[in-house]
Amino acid sequence: LADKPHVAATLASLGQPGSAARIPTPAAVIDLDAFERNLARMAARAKAAGLALRPHSKSHKTVAIARRQVAAGAVGVCCAKLAEAEAMAAGGVASILITSPAAGPLWAMRAAAVASAVPDFRIVLDHADAAAELGAAAQGPIQVLIDVDPGMGRTGVRDADQALEVFRAIAAQPKLKLIGVQCYGGSWQHMEGANARAAAVADGMARLKAVIAALREAGAVIEVVTGGGTGTFEADAAQGVLTEVQPGSYAFMDREYRDALKDDPDGAFEQSLAIAATVITTNQPTWVTVDAGLKAFSTDGPLPVPLTPKFAGVAYRYFGDEHGRLMRPEGQPVERGERVDFVPPHVDPTLDRYDLIHLVRGDVLVDIVRVEARGASQ
Ligand code: PLP
Ligand code: MN
Repeated sequence: LADKPHVAATLASLGQPGSAARIPTPAAVIDLDAFERNLARMAARAKAAGLALRPHSKSHKTVAIARRQVAAGAVGVCCAKLAEAEAMAAGGVASILITSPAAGPLWAMRAAAVASAVPDFRIVLDHADAAAELGAAAQGPIQVLIDVDPGMGRTGVRDADQALEVFRAIAAQPKLKLIGVQCYGGSWQHMEGANARAAAVADGMARLKAVIAALREAGAVIEVVTGGGTGTFEADAAQGVLTEVQPGSYAFMDREYRDALKDDPDGAFEQSLAIAATVITTNQPTWVTVDAGLKAFSTDGPLPVPLTPKFAGVAYRYFGDEHGRLMRPEGQPVERGERVDFVPPHVDPTLDRYDLIHLVRGDVLVDIVRVEARGASQ
């Protein structure tokens, strides 16, 4: 793409003062200072709690970011899907846990291939047939974990009996090695109030402990107990059941998490990710139009809110696929071409809409990285 003049101009501006203001929009932009503080903060919390930190790459799908997380103390990354893991493996990420069970005719072949390419590969299973399929496809030893339903009914074994069935199926496969269990409470993460989240975690961990006890009773060696997200770190650390946490959003933050976690210690992360937009039309008296609409944000959550101080508290509405309507801030003129940064509603599906992430320090565009696993949801 560098033969396009505007791309060449953007690339030529890398490292130049003021270059951050010239990024073509809408664009995903990371404030590196805030991002690095977020990584350091989570690494320090995990270390203090004696927990391994394995951030979830579903939030960013970007090798350059995974590498920075590992450099900042993470033991590796989680991947939601095999395609995501393939991208991380191609980028040299050495320790990968696949956190979602898979099915279908080719999944086991694909999982076995990724397993061979990654020095420390782990994958969750929640059915005896999956163990048989993976065991048959395995080229060498593969580490597996039993996924345990936290009580939301999405994935995972429902109870100790189902867990034991999967354990026996794993034990029957010479190439599969059971190393632990996973239990991730997705529905707990955005509960408002630290006490509500702690109560949900306590409930789920009681279920998990019963499953672990039954597995150990049957002879299973459970070394790894992995789970947890940004919203439940405090409660997870207090419960002491997990050995490893998998937060993703903490590195970037979004409106959903800001609204839910507020001033709780779990929410003490900075908004490092912005969706940058440009004011393209100023012809209306009470609002302006920006170039970021339904395609620029994931629309499953609350509305985007401006991050740029001048527009703080000003209402944004989707104005169709390509446009957004932003009310004019009181008493301040808005120019055509002006840049407005937004807090995305929900980080994971928003970043999945961008091919590139722009890394910025102060007013300098430092680097542009590719979102390799964008759309890699197979
Ligand atoms: N682990 C699993 C299995 C997930 O599905 C997710 C996100 O959905 C996470 C970890 C990361 O959670 P969060 O982004 O809330 O920190
Ligand atoms: Mn999410």
